[in-house]
Amino acid sequence: MCNAGKIYKVSYRLLEKLSSSIMAVRGRRRQQFLRLNGDWEVFCWSVAGLETSVVVRKDDLKLAFDMGYASRPAVSCQHVFISHGHIDHIGGVPSHVRKRLMSHAKPSTYYMPEHLVQTTKQSLEIAAVQSETAELATHAYLKPVGPGESIQLPAAYVAVPFPTVHAVTSQGYIIYKQHKKLKEEFQGMESQEIASLKKQGVEVVDEELVPEIAFTGDTTFEIFEKLAHPDLLKVKVLILEATYIDKDIDKQGKTSRTKARERGHVHLQELIDNADLFKDVGSIYLMHFSDKYSSGYIWRTVKKVSLPAPLKGKLYVGNMVHDLGF
Ligand SMILES: [Zn+2]
Ligand SMILES: [Zn+2]
Repeated sequence: MCNAGKIYKVSYRLLEKLSSSIMAVRGRRRQQFLRLNGDWEVFCWSVAGLETSVVVRKDDLKLAFDMGYASRPAVSCQHVFISHGHIDHIGGVPSHVRKRLMSHAKPSTYYMPEHLVQTTKQSLEIAAVQSETAELATHAYLKPVGPGESIQLPAAYVAVPFPTVHAVTSQGYIIYKQHKKLKEEFQGMESQEIASLKKQGVEVVDEELVPEIAFTGDTTFEIFEKLAHPDLLKVKVLILEATYIDKDIDKQGKTSRTKARERGHVHLQELIDNADLFKDVGSIYLMHFSDKYSSGYIWRTVKKVSLPAPLKGKLYVGNMVHDLGF
């Protein structure tokens, strides 16, 4: 009896220990989404050349940028914005479609530069054959979009593509929130009068678009020097690639910064040297680091850099699922 009591006690402690470690794991999982300015949460899965897919969410809205890998958070996204056709940014589309089919989810809409629609369609047809699932070829809306267009999203959000500078045709996206405000001339008016004006077809509200998030995809720093879009540096959250962060010089005497420009990417130092440009941006989420850097190296390098005032406290790094803020 006595021994049984002991066993019970030990098992109970073990159970307690187990459940607290399960809670800890769950806690870490929850933290994979990082909360940034404007209550936006970001989930990042990105290493240059391997796979990139970023999910952002706020309230009921959830969007994915690029689909190099169909991560679990990405699978629940009905709107997917593709920046360019490199395989590490678009190669996960068939897998995304398949995973949505498996979870009985509606077809997602994949927004992309026009020239990518045909090849994406073909990749879905091939995946349909490979997986012996005919629906895979058609369970997706492939929508060509380009700079100058705007895409209406749920919950009064709008997406606007802007041109970026990369080794191939590429584009980023700015997400806006639509706010409606009663026109100045009607303010103070009785609600019945306003209702009657509306009935007569009078436009009584002004629409304001507030820039919330920008996702650059792969690009050089030129998009900031020559401002690719007037609202690019006004966003609450800027998700920016920073493929290179080291000060190495190769055998040909080339710095990583020169290589970044030549290969269509950003170097962290460009951001630091032009910090003033980012004074109005809320948070800057860096991702798409070169695979030659470990997570620890990325964290240490970005942390030990002395950041100019406009960047202080607003830089975050995302590397696969490791998110660190400082
Ligand atoms: Zn890339
Ligand atoms: Zn690329």
